Amino acid sequence: MKITKVTSAVVEGYKLWNFVRVETDTGLHGFGEAHPGEGVPTLVEGQLEPLLIGHDPRDVEPLYHKMLARTVGGSAGGTLLGAIAGIETALWDVAGKAQGVPVFRLLGGGYRDSIRLYADVGRGATNTPEAWAQRARDAVAEGFQAMKFDLDHSADELQHDPVNRGLSLAELDKMTALIEAVRAAVGDGVDLCVDCHGIYDVRSASLLAERLEPFNLMFFEDPVPPENIEAMAKVSSSTPITICTGEWVHRRDGFRRLIELQACDMLHVDVSATGGMLEAKKIADLADLYYLPFAAHNIVSPLGMVASAHVCAAVRNLHIMELPYHADQVDWRWELVKSDRPLLQDSAFAVPQGPGLGVELNEDVAQEHARPGVPFFGT
Ligand code: MG
Repeated sequence: MKITKVTSAVVEGYKLWNFVRVETDTGLHGFGEAHPGEGVPTLVEGQLEPLLIGHDPRDVEPLYHKMLARTVGGSAGGTLLGAIAGIETALWDVAGKAQGVPVFRLLGGGYRDSIRLYADVGRGATNTPEAWAQRARDAVAEGFQAMKFDLDHSADELQHDPVNRGLSLAELDKMTALIEAVRAAVGDGVDLCVDCHGIYDVRSASLLAERLEPFNLMFFEDPVPPENIEAMAKVSSSTPITICTGEWVHRRDGFRRLIELQACDMLHVDVSATGGMLEAKKIADLADLYYLPFAAHNIVSPLGMVASAHVCAAVRNLHIMELPYHADQVDWRWELVKSDRPLLQDSAFAVPQGPGLGVELNEDVAQEHARPGVPFFGT
């Protein structure tokens, strides 16, 4: 089997969703999703496709390393790594179809066929305790028993300085009141998480964590930027709250010291950002040596979530997977994939059991929402 064509399509969803299609001389094809954002088609068609033509798509790991080595010498990150991840996923889709097995079996086999989800609900309609409580009640009413709020920037009107990474006492008070209202609204049985997107300093993050301790959070994500592992470790050791990070960390190389130093308590890995399905599985296995749980970060479309779900199925130390619930304004998004059963089942994600990813991209729906002026899978 040989790769004959690698093309991309850009769909205007909640983000710019980037899809990749790998075609072969047998007629089998595979789909993958690159990390959302600008610039993917130039990389897929312009830089990566020529490296793949004529190769057997089932040699997924060798082709992944070839793409890394022939672009920036192996240490890719950012949009390039996201594009590589989309191709890697499409290669797994082909490989699974060729073998007649779901991709999770090629990654070692399935520990589970249903993945627990948390809803990334964003914020309340306004930054008031009442609005945040209502947002939480709405998510519970939709069946979610785990949810995450974006707590950063929720009290900016009270800050002393907009750029110095610090939190004022008034900001701390307001942020605490928001989470207090959410916990009171949902009761004790619902898992709550907060995300601060790495914008605070160690002192402020530790003070905020101390304030949030009474509310039994499932995790506090990115209290400080992820690049300084020692700073992350200092925050983690300052609080009994589970600190997690990882959505911006690239490849095993980026995670190695974070895991070895146990600088966080849980990993939050984005399959489409960190290099792809096998890379994410390897990161999870490395984390499991340190008994660290693994969570899957998602801002992709449902097709990319399927790729994440296959990884989550094959990972022993899975904790939970993210549902980008604040993408719910994109009311056609579940129509983007053709699946023989609903993927979203209450607050869990059903792992497709068919060959490859077990779903197909609905190209008609994708084309309806394609970005104007950009080639759609080469046409
Ligand atoms: Mg995050």
